[in-house]
Amino acid sequence: MPRKMSRLERSFNTQSMVLQKSKIKYLCPKCLQGFSRSDVLYQHFRQKADAIHKGLDSNKSNFALFLSSYQGCMGALIPAAKLPKAPDCFDVFFVIEHYGEETESPNISDYAQSYTSTPSMHSHSCNFSVPLYHDRQPRGYDHDSHGGTALSTVPVPKQHVRHLQILHDVEVEAKICALLPQMDNWLDGTLPLSDQPHHDFGVIVPSVDVNRPLIPVRDLLYKGFGTFTLIRTFKDVFSPQNIPEAVYTVLRVDGPGLIGNQKVAIGESIWVSHQTTLSAGLILLIGVFPTVVVGQKV
Ligand SMILES: [Zn+2]
Repeated sequence: MPRKMSRLERSFNTQSMVLQKSKIKYLCPKCLQGFSRSDVLYQHFRQKADAIHKGLDSNKSNFALFLSSYQGCMGALIPAAKLPKAPDCFDVFFVIEHYGEETESPNISDYAQSYTSTPSMHSHSCNFSVPLYHDRQPRGYDHDSHGGTALSTVPVPKQHVRHLQILHDVEVEAKICALLPQMDNWLDGTLPLSDQPHHDFGVIVPSVDVNRPLIPVRDLLYKGFGTFTLIRTFKDVFSPQNIPEAVYTVLRVDGPGLIGNQKVAIGESIWVSHQTTLSAGLILLIGVFPTVVVGQKV
């Protein structure tokens, strides 16, 4: 007896038929806008002209940049060998099939495989670095002295945390949101939107030491000696290359609030395993921590 289709399958099949009859043949993986012809798609890349659309347009001039832009937008680490030649990699059905693949698949060995097949991904993609700061004293909110239960001090086992997984922790998120009104002026002063030498990259970085004002936030996120930075995006950009694998904590969202294809909200922390795209209007505390405390109670 043939299996009954689920509601989801049925609706997917209908959508596929609708798409087959529509004029949409290609999708921009950044905006998911549809196009009938590849030349119009490429025209769209050139019109948008931000770093990511430029990257999508660069498969002939700089394949590594193209690949990292493509993978960043798709949220899928499709290895170069498995990627159809442009413009077929923008084919509407191919994009739909693979879009967001990595955020749902916990299969780490797949990532490792695609990593080794694209060793140049990091060295060529929008390679800007940000200043890094280091803890001089160990951080860590002392939960024990407040009568709470002792938190595990075992580091987050990385293989259990997917790329772009939000480290949900209602308590920590609420505490960060409560701290932000007092920090907002300082954030604006430290990361001013004008007169920045880093404007070309679409990212503003601090020109002063940000260690002390960020202590209350860091105390909520981890224990021990961490390395961190603070950035503000005013264009859609790539995450900084010198701290590709880190916990990103969102201190402000003006705009779509996207890290890769994952929507983020103020106070949330998200695990980022490799360079990805960041939407404009974010202020982010990015850190590499010995023991991540946030999200452990999930
Ligand atoms: Zn686009």
